[in-house]
Amino acid sequence: AIPLVIAISTEQAARAGVLIKNRMALERMRTVDVVLFDKTGTLTTGEPELMDVAVAEGVDPDELLALAAAVESDSEHPVARAIVRAARDRNLVVPAAGSFTSLTGRGVRATLDGRTLHVGGPALLRELAAVEPPALAAVTRGWMDRGAAVLHVLDGGRILGAVSLEDAVRPESRQAVAALQNRGVKVAMVTGDARQVARAVAADLRIDEVFAEVLPADKDKKVAELQARGLKVAMVGDGVNDSPALARAEVGIAIGAGTDVAMESAGVVLAGNDPRAVLSMVDLSRASYRKMW
Ligand code: ADP
Ligand code: MG
Repeated sequence: AIPLVIAISTEQAARAGVLIKNRMALERMRTVDVVLFDKTGTLTTGEPELMDVAVAEGVDPDELLALAAAVESDSEHPVARAIVRAARDRNLVVPAAGSFTSLTGRGVRATLDGRTLHVGGPALLRELAAVEPPALAAVTRGWMDRGAAVLHVLDGGRILGAVSLEDAVRPESRQAVAALQNRGVKVAMVTGDARQVARAVAADLRIDEVFAEVLPADKDKKVAELQARGLKVAMVGDGVNDSPALARAEVGIAIGAGTDVAMESAGVVLAGNDPRAVLSMVDLSRASYRKMW
């Protein structure tokens, strides 16, 4: 039979928006040393907005945005939706691209009028060994220093320009991080975004440790790294990318608006998008399991 205290705390958890799928997860939460949050869609709203467009010499900004939207038109990634939305808001004519290919953790590729176009982040630039014109580099560095995400648009190996996107930090994230730290729990963050972007968000939230430019397949390795230091890890994530990390952590917590895949590998699902629910879990776990002894 389920011990009464556990039955009660599972019900209390549900009331706090925390769905316990694996009861061990709630018990283990009491012993967790570090909570590792995925940044995008977890600590931030996950709905980036297009802020700026910058171009290489001889490229028209509207044309750059239209091309970017054409390449992104088939992608479900939030940055893709923001680019398509921005092009639509500016009433741009978006040409029809083809042969859409998603390059996991890096960007997307498509063809248009015999050209191969790419849109993507820092990992893509490295992979294509693309050289950014100095004037453009100065602009995009400024964006990154401000914490914006930068995506470059390329035609073959040539950089045509870049767009900046900003993904606002959830106000609740600030409270969640501070309160976890007050309870003696370390807070870390993992993201595929550029180092500068990650650093700006981490500084804003006063996060203890940051893993940036982490490819999706490597997120679970960061969990393992923390574990190798003797730390018990709770991982909070939303995306398909986060599933192996959720599965590897002592406690895997999928955030509510996330994908079904992430939900399956998690021991806990948060009903909403509020990171403070993680705090409720720590408190419930500590209170419930104290009562047993
Ligand atoms: P995260 O959840 O941290 O954003 P992802 O693996 O989804 O991690 O993406 C990692 C990085 O790859 C993004 O920050 C972005 O730079 C790039 N990227 C992924 N998908 C796209 C896309 N559709 N268009 C452009 N860039 C993309
Ligand atoms: Mg994600």
